Order: sequence, then structure tokens, then C-alpha cells
Amino acid sequence: MDFYSSPISRLIEQLSALPGIGSKTAQRLAFHIVNMPVEQAEALSAAIIEAKKNVRYCKQCFTMTDGELCPICGNPKRDQRTIMVVENTRDLAAYEKTGKYEGVYHVLHGAISPMLGIGPADIRLKELMQRLQEEVDEVIIATNSSLEGETTAMYLSKLIKPSGIRVTRIASGVPVGGDLEYIDEVTLLRALEGRVEL
Ligand code: ZN
Repeated sequence: MDFYSSPISRLIEQLSALPGIGSKTAQRLAFHIVNMPVEQAEALSAAIIEAKKNVRYCKQCFTMTDGELCPICGNPKRDQRTIMVVENTRDLAAYEKTGKYEGVYHVLHGAISPMLGIGPADIRLKELMQRLQEEVDEVIIATNSSLEGETTAMYLSKLIKPSGIRVTRIASGVPVGGDLEYIDEVTLLRALEGRVEL
């Protein structure tokens, strides 16, 4: 990258550190940014700082939000006794887009992966178990159908079932290894409606 001036090299380096951005894309984005009107570049950097400073985790479900409680947990119309467990905030957003789910969520921020050395203590599992001390009717496990997602589902089911709370798993119609956010709403709804008892 020595053939670029160092500010551009630094920008390319920063951009290529983002997930899903290879060095070619990083270069394209960097040149796009330096060719922007200065106001637009300022708005972009301000939006990044603003989001970083103001976004935090909901104290109940651990999704990203800007208040203590996210709008979903804070909504009295949502059924607080049905908790859908997802791997990340993007998966939550995918289910919210269907507009049909009336319960609340719990965001694990990852999945158990013995291969990557990610154990139960590395995701928000303890927090979920604490929530289950309250009145809960059903836990819907909506982790991905990848090996990690399935491992997490099995682990959760074993952990929760002795408490007598109903544990269900979204139907496998969701492509194996598929990230939930890329699946269309109809497929998600079908997976939710066809969920099976664990
Ligand atoms: Zn919340």
C-alpha cells in the first residue's frame, strides 16, 4: 500500500479491518470517501462517533439500544412471558421485520463453539437464566442452524427444561448455516409458526 499517500493508506487499513470488507472494497470505499464533499465526510464520521457513544445494551434483552430498556422490552403490549433467544441484534431485527412476533427477545451475542473456544460463559447465557427466574411461559430458541447454533440450542434446552418452562426450537426451513438476517420474512414466519417442542 506504499504507493498511496499515508492518510489514504490509513483509511484503507481502517476500512479493511471491518467485517466483510476485503482490501479491494476498502480501496474503493477509501477513494469514494476522499472524493466526497467535505460535509458528507464529516457527517459520516460524526455518525460513527455518535453511534459508538450512544449505543448500549438493553439491560433486559441485551440488544443494542440507546436507553436503559430497548423499545421492545419497554413496550407494555409485548408479551414478556415469551422470550425468543437469538444470536445477535441483526437476527432480532430480522424477526421484528416480520411484524408478527409479539413476545420479547434475548440476544446472546454469539453462540457456543468448542472449536473456536467460545463457551457458555462467553455469551449472555447467565443473564438469560436470570430472566427465567421471572414468570416465563416459553423460550423460543432461534439460534442459527449452523453447528454452533445447534450446539447452543441443545445446551440451552438441557439447561432450561428442568425448570418446567416450555422450550421450543424454530422449524428447520431456515437454510443450514444461513444467517437469519438474509432470510426472507415469509421463511422466518414459517420457521416461527412451525417451531417444535424440545
Ligand atoms: Zn430489550
